[in-house]
Amino acid sequence: MAADNNINVPFHRPEIGMDEVEAVTKAMLSGWLTTGPASKEFEAEVAGFVGAKHAVALNSCTAALHLALSAVGLKEGEHVIVPSMTFAATAEVASYFKAIPSIVDIEPRTMNISPEAIKRKIVEIKKSGGTVRAVLPVHFAGLPCDMDAIGAIAKEHDIHVIEDAAHAIPSSYKGRPIGGISDVTCFSFYATKTVATGEGGMAVTDDQQWAEHMRVMSLHGISKDAWKRYSAEGSWYYEIDYPGFKYNMTDTAAAMGLVQLKKAEQMRLKRQAIADTYDQAFAKLDKWIETPARPIEEGTIHSHHLYVLRLNLAALAIDRAAFIEQLRARGVMASVHFIPLHIHPYYRNTFGYKPEDLPVSYEEYMRAISLPIFPSMSSREIAHVTSTVADLCKANDR
Ligand SMILES: *Cc1c(COP(=O)(O)O)cnc(C)c1O
Repeated sequence: MAADNNINVPFHRPEIGMDEVEAVTKAMLSGWLTTGPASKEFEAEVAGFVGAKHAVALNSCTAALHLALSAVGLKEGEHVIVPSMTFAATAEVASYFKAIPSIVDIEPRTMNISPEAIKRKIVEIKKSGGTVRAVLPVHFAGLPCDMDAIGAIAKEHDIHVIEDAAHAIPSSYKGRPIGGISDVTCFSFYATKTVATGEGGMAVTDDQQWAEHMRVMSLHGISKDAWKRYSAEGSWYYEIDYPGFKYNMTDTAAAMGLVQLKKAEQMRLKRQAIADTYDQAFAKLDKWIETPARPIEEGTIHSHHLYVLRLNLAALAIDRAAFIEQLRARGVMASVHFIPLHIHPYYRNTFGYKPEDLPVSYEEYMRAISLPIFPSMSSREIAHVTSTVADLCKANDR
């Protein structure tokens, strides 16, 4: 295919239309700039969408993970099991409690946390006299983790499952939406995520007490919602029950989220069609590249938040960094998800990890490339990505 020289495909383009603009404008003119009726409505809509009893709207997924760990009673010195292949947020929240993030390896096919590795880590921690409070599976790229296996391990060892579902709305595991499965599930509405409010997050749970705890802690440990406190029917009185945080969602963000949520499945289908096109185009290039895992269980649905290619480095004359550089030179912006936690200076220096300690995540990281995948990609943009990847594979054949 001839190279398309006058095109630049960004890694991501936000999906914001006049619907969002009108909803945010309405919220701004309503008198409620911070947590108010739109946030309450967004909580109810997300809870209904994912099949959870309670939802707490927050200003990030990081805040949701923090409050979820607080709800399940994480204490100093206890362990929280997290996968290596994730963003900073998943592990840093354990440090907020002076707890220990115990990083474990992933499965090579899905790049999701390995249930076997979770089991081994729990046994190792228990042998040394430690306590594991929770495991935080991350649905990498939006492909659900093996929740049956993780749930069984958690039950056996009496630990909590808190899902980092920052990539996974809408995703389903064996017919059940992500959000209706574990103790607490945390979503992100960060600018580049599948449902975007700029900054935003939500914790969902079926446990009323946990939900109440997260709600109180999200607003200074005060036992009443601010919007009730300041509304006509509310009173001036409030009580501080705990030293809380400032994690509440704004109504302008919620108004945007309500519109985005309505389009979430339609946007997912567009990303899925792009993933299908990529898979087909790249099938012929299997000497040089591997396409990402697709769901294999009945009823499991991938959100397609990311499309992560993996290079067969042995068949190529260049490494991953050079491949990304050559993509960029031809107008295709790519990225890497993720630099494994255990090779970052903080985790190396604090806990003594070496790259080869978690070899699967290290090796997959060395050959991973995230390609652009967002609903408004044009067929010309998609074709430019596939033809550029094909050209680079052939040009750099070893
Ligand atoms: C984006 C992301 C987060 C953090 O979400 P915020 O809403 O920015 O706090 C957490 N975990 C993963 C896996 C992410 O990709």
